[in-house]
Amino acid sequence: METKILKMDTAADEKLSVAAQAIKNGDLVAFPTETVYGLGANGLDEKAAAKIYAAKGRPSDNPLILHIDSIKMLAMITDKVPHMAMEIMAAFCPGPITMIVPKKIAVPDRITGGLSTVGVRMPDNDIARKLITLSGVPIAAPSANLSGRPSPTTAATVYDDLNGRIPYILDGGPSDFGVESTIVDCTESIPVILRPGAITKEMLEEIFPEVRVDPALSGKNSVPKAPGMKYRHYAPKAPMILLKGRKENMLAAFTKELSKCKKAGQSVGIIASHEVTNLLRHSYSYDYGSQNDLFHIAADLYNALRYFDDKPVDILLAEGTTEKGIGLAIMNRLKKASGQNILSAYKNN
Ligand code: AMP
Ligand code: MG
Repeated sequence: METKILKMDTAADEKLSVAAQAIKNGDLVAFPTETVYGLGANGLDEKAAAKIYAAKGRPSDNPLILHIDSIKMLAMITDKVPHMAMEIMAAFCPGPITMIVPKKIAVPDRITGGLSTVGVRMPDNDIARKLITLSGVPIAAPSANLSGRPSPTTAATVYDDLNGRIPYILDGGPSDFGVESTIVDCTESIPVILRPGAITKEMLEEIFPEVRVDPALSGKNSVPKAPGMKYRHYAPKAPMILLKGRKENMLAAFTKELSKCKKAGQSVGIIASHEVTNLLRHSYSYDYGSQNDLFHIAADLYNALRYFDDKPVDILLAEGTTEKGIGLAIMNRLKKASGQNILSAYKNN
């Protein structure tokens, strides 16, 4: 199958109608959102959903998020909207947040991996919302990458992973946030964050007296409530060690680990902040931005994780961030990308 990239500049409306027709026909369309690029299909058509799993090589128990263009469209997905979800909608939607709510029978089990709940999100991206409106149905869309790989934040990275597997990619430029939506379970009495994202715990605490984080996210031995969070994810091709700790200890920790790896004859790629890469001066380095600008680091994170894939490195050393604010989402993705291969960067270690 030939994969066509439709650039959303001139004649965007015509191209959107072509893409919406593909969705109506049960085909797949990759499209931009403010978080990452999504791989979309008619969310009420189980045959179309099956194509998403096949194109990505996604495990069938990993449910899909349904994307809507308006609160009105919620009625196609659920007839029991929890009050908590309404409050989240009022405060943050459209935006990078997904609410887990009870599902209607019309939502196929294929979409929810057999669960009685479904994830729903209203993206803050005009192309995405217009595509949903023109298609007339909620659009099921996971990230538009091969399963296990870093999520795509540009049309070009979607093409790298899915060329030949899908008919259309809508190119709307780079994604704003670069990490997937915050997922909040709205089916209990207290909101529980199942996946951290750009809408932070601190932001949710401004509207709810208590907000919990799924214990499985902090590496506790429980099974994550978002089935997808149990898989290795976001992984670069080379093995990666994550250095975690206070930013003032990072340079010393990198210097030490780098020399250990070099002694072992390994060719090393560094993924680190401006502050560290500038002083370390290692030839294979990716500067992911300043530790003082976590939003920049989030937006560039998946580029960083893909950067070394075509370079001759044996091992990657990556710098962690604080776990405050959007740092919780960055660290969640880095921990997963490293397969929990984490070193603490203490002073004098
Ligand atoms: P992706 O679209 O690739 O970002 O993955 C969607 C994420 O949402 C996965 O981690 C899923 O496990 C999670 N998810 C989707 N639906 C549900 C649900 N009904 N309950 C819990 N987690 C869900
Ligand atoms: Mg994904």
